[in-house]
Amino acid sequence: MGIPLAQAARIGTYLVKQHLSGRKRYPLVLMLEPLFRCNLACAGCGKIDYPGEILNQRLSVEDCMQAIDECGAPVVSIAGGEPLLHREMPEIVRGYLARKKYVILCTNALLLTKKIDDYKPHPGFTWSIHLDGNQAMHDKSVCQGGVYDKAVEAIKLAKSKGFHVSINCTLFNDADPAQVADFLDDMKALGLDGMTISPGYAYERAPDQQHFLNRTKTKELFRGILSRGNGGKKWAFSQSVLFLNFLAGNEAYSCTPWGNPTRTVFGWQKPCYLLGEGYAKTFKELMDDTEWDKYGVGNYEKCADCMVHSGFEASAVKDMVKNPLKALAVSMRGVRTDGPMAEDISLANQRPADFVFSGHVERKLAEIRARPRPKKTRPEESVPAE
Ligand code: SF4
Repeated sequence: MGIPLAQAARIGTYLVKQHLSGRKRYPLVLMLEPLFRCNLACAGCGKIDYPGEILNQRLSVEDCMQAIDECGAPVVSIAGGEPLLHREMPEIVRGYLARKKYVILCTNALLLTKKIDDYKPHPGFTWSIHLDGNQAMHDKSVCQGGVYDKAVEAIKLAKSKGFHVSINCTLFNDADPAQVADFLDDMKALGLDGMTISPGYAYERAPDQQHFLNRTKTKELFRGILSRGNGGKKWAFSQSVLFLNFLAGNEAYSCTPWGNPTRTVFGWQKPCYLLGEGYAKTFKELMDDTEWDKYGVGNYEKCADCMVHSGFEASAVKDMVKNPLKALAVSMRGVRTDGPMAEDISLANQRPADFVFSGHVERKLAEIRARPRPKKTRPEESVPAE
């Protein structure tokens, strides 16, 4: 994994402890969405389609610290929305580092040059820059020209200042394996510390519904990419080799939604980072009261095509802890990119989709409007289209 050794050792120790204690469900990465406001409007994004009153909500520093104290995950991935629009973000990052958590701050990088000096390089801190492919692919994905160039500039700047820098790349059904492989080569040449690559989830509220990948296309795409990079060995991915093996169709994992519990301005999101079917007030309530068997591939229509890292990386990591020799063999020889694929989970008995979005939005708006108005408010962070 492309993460610092000391962090990998700490996460490994946590995993082995959980495994040995026989705990059935435990978190690996806290997915923190401290705001939904963004300075881009990407075609495949299902996270920012909210009224302004909800987009203006922020998790406070205290909310963010409470989230990690409640769940105890060793890693925090901060996303959104655009986290750099949150005024208290440097304090939130410092708070997590002080708690010895490994912090991944995901950003589209448009504000990184302006804000980078609010942060200090730290072995437990990584910038994760959103880049969905080369210049043409990424600017198309984010529906704005010039964003790729700014992201690459920001990567170079962050590296020059001594930060750990990775990218997160989401792929859609128009991705060409050869182009993606060339893009990964370009990223390697920038000296990145890691890369995360994943198929996009088919968000029901995303403006573009035409370009999401189905399971078969995902596996074919990843075989095409990884076969051009020695089974993936050529590139420093930040994800486990067994997750890549899954993406290439060599495993048929069930998801582990509680592995990446998600805290947003709505509360703890049920059941996972990708689906907001309900919200719990506490992490304990999330773990105890979510009807986990109602979700996942084969159980629920909205899960049918999901192969996203936030749902399946924890499944791969659990497999790695149970079968370290298998993981070692795949990492030595590379991910297999030909031959038969593992039989996938049947969709014959999945329940139909529930559509609950508008009910959550109405309840949240009523809650916001019932709050006493603050006497003095600071002006909203501007949302520059730079
Ligand atoms: S398959 Fe799992 S991770 Fe994916 S959307 Fe469904 S519950 Fe979430």
